[in-house]
Amino acid sequence: MRRKTEDNASKPAQGGQSRPGYVRVRGAREHNLKNVDLEIPRDALVVFTGVSGSGKSSLAFGTLYAEAQRRYLESVSPYARRLFHQMPVPEVDEIDGLPPAVALQQQRGSPTTRSSVGSVSTLSNSLRMLYSRAGDYPPGQELLYAESFSPNTPEGACPECSGLGRVYEVTEQSMVPDDTLTIRERAVAAWPPAWHGQNLRDILVTMGFDVDTPWRELPKKDRDWILFTDETPTVPVYAGLTPEETKQALKRKDTPSYQGTFTGAKRYVLQTFANTESASMKKRVARYMVSAECPLCRGKRLRQEALSVTFAGVDIADISRMPLARLHALLLPYASGEAPKNVRQAKLHPEQLIVTRRIAEDLVARLEVLLALGLGYLALERSTPTLSPGELQRLRLATQVRSNLFGVVYVLDEPSAGLHPADTEALLTALDQLKASGNSLFVVEHALDVIRRADWIVDVGPAAGERGGEGEQGKAAGNRHRSDSR
Ligand SMILES: [Zn+2]
Repeated sequence: MRRKTEDNASKPAQGGQSRPGYVRVRGAREHNLKNVDLEIPRDALVVFTGVSGSGKSSLAFGTLYAEAQRRYLESVSPYARRLFHQMPVPEVDEIDGLPPAVALQQQRGSPTTRSSVGSVSTLSNSLRMLYSRAGDYPPGQELLYAESFSPNTPEGACPECSGLGRVYEVTEQSMVPDDTLTIRERAVAAWPPAWHGQNLRDILVTMGFDVDTPWRELPKKDRDWILFTDETPTVPVYAGLTPEETKQALKRKDTPSYQGTFTGAKRYVLQTFANTESASMKKRVARYMVSAECPLCRGKRLRQEALSVTFAGVDIADISRMPLARLHALLLPYASGEAPKNVRQAKLHPEQLIVTRRIAEDLVARLEVLLALGLGYLALERSTPTLSPGELQRLRLATQVRSNLFGVVYVLDEPSAGLHPADTEALLTALDQLKASGNSLFVVEHALDVIRRADWIVDVGPAAGERGGEGEQGKAAGNRHRSDSR
């Protein structure tokens, strides 16, 4: 494939230079696009329409966003590059005038299971600051830094569960699911299969344990030792001999087949889970573990010191579980300066009052954008992989509105998906705010309310697949928000 980029575009190009204020695309052939040429205005709301499969996403994401990302990644170190979910290089002859792009769509397959509404919106950072600087500390407790209120730092994580909120245990029932079996019949299901499991059984024979009686009829002392001991005795093993023959061989001090080392079932499961490099081994032993709420932090993931600090009578774990609308209502009096009337605040130092008010004001302002976008029912601790693509895009959008970036293209994929029609106006307001700060918006969208507000429409089609891939475009007719981008 022959590619040209901005670097060699100074040669007299066919079709001439792109006009300032426009992104010019020549010969886009990604997926089903048929050599599409386009000039799209910058600093405008551009909506890409067309039936499903027409090629509109191939143009917006597969071509424009992929090329912007490729150019950006060329400027960063190979190490940083690996942290991105890289898009394939697009099939296109030339793109001029393309600003850096930010995609607000879901990055599928990115390993961010600990990412949450609070971390994506950065509201959790501000909340930690609030607890650190303006929280109520029990008498005699040292002040804590903001990091100490995060379960993802060593300073904050509960030492019992490492900040996971859950602990994993093994029990007799989880390791011996069928206690009518004998050890020879593999009653200890958690033990390794095949040779290694046989080896452990032969060691028990040497040690005089009964491997031919149903598990539930063995003395409790023996069952507990086999499952839970941390001792790892090494004994002679006589492979293939019966228990009686083994007893004789031991008496005669015959040369054993080999020396075998015993491992209790619990020890085997936990060590394998923690240390194995094999995903299938890990999965296998995980079947014998049961998870339970951490008894120390009761699922709140933080050290006791952090949980003992409160704001408005609530610890930071509970405040992170509140719906955003309730959190907003709780913080509002602090932001407006009414709260100092209560007793606790009256004891505060004037400087602390100022800090409280400033952080609360910032939180309230950012929460208002999220509420306006119809996300007031979410809580900060909600993990982002459980959000719908529409929810995640609106969450990122709300964060960007307050970020003061300018001169970038935001690429969105149906941000109205799943949004209540009554909240569409707020979505459009957020898009308008980003545009007013000097950004471009490229939006793939079906919703008429959004299409109606576009400055420029790129319609890809006319149909799907082979019968699509052609682009038509133009200024949106009768658009009351139309802006001249030149
Ligand atoms: Zn814990």
